[in-house]
Amino acid sequence: MSDISQLQSLAKLSSQSFHQQKNFIKKVLAGRIVQCPHCQKNLSVYLTDQGESSIRCAKKCTDIALDCE
Ligand SMILES: [Zn+2]
Repeated sequence: MSDISQLQSLAKLSSQSFHQQKNFIKKVLAGRIVQCPHCQKNLSVYLTDQGESSIRCAKKCTDIALDCE
């Protein structure tokens, strides 16, 4: 039983950062200003040469692919 609850708390942790990333995406796409939690630079939508888009800060320490949208 304790193994299962350990697994569940791990899944909860990774889903929290997943939700944080989804939140960044939602806010940036809504035209809101979101700052990178690492460098405090504004995040913006970046289009790659492959036609894929991602949310990045100027220093690229945040780089969230939009393939899930
Ligand atoms: Zn950054």
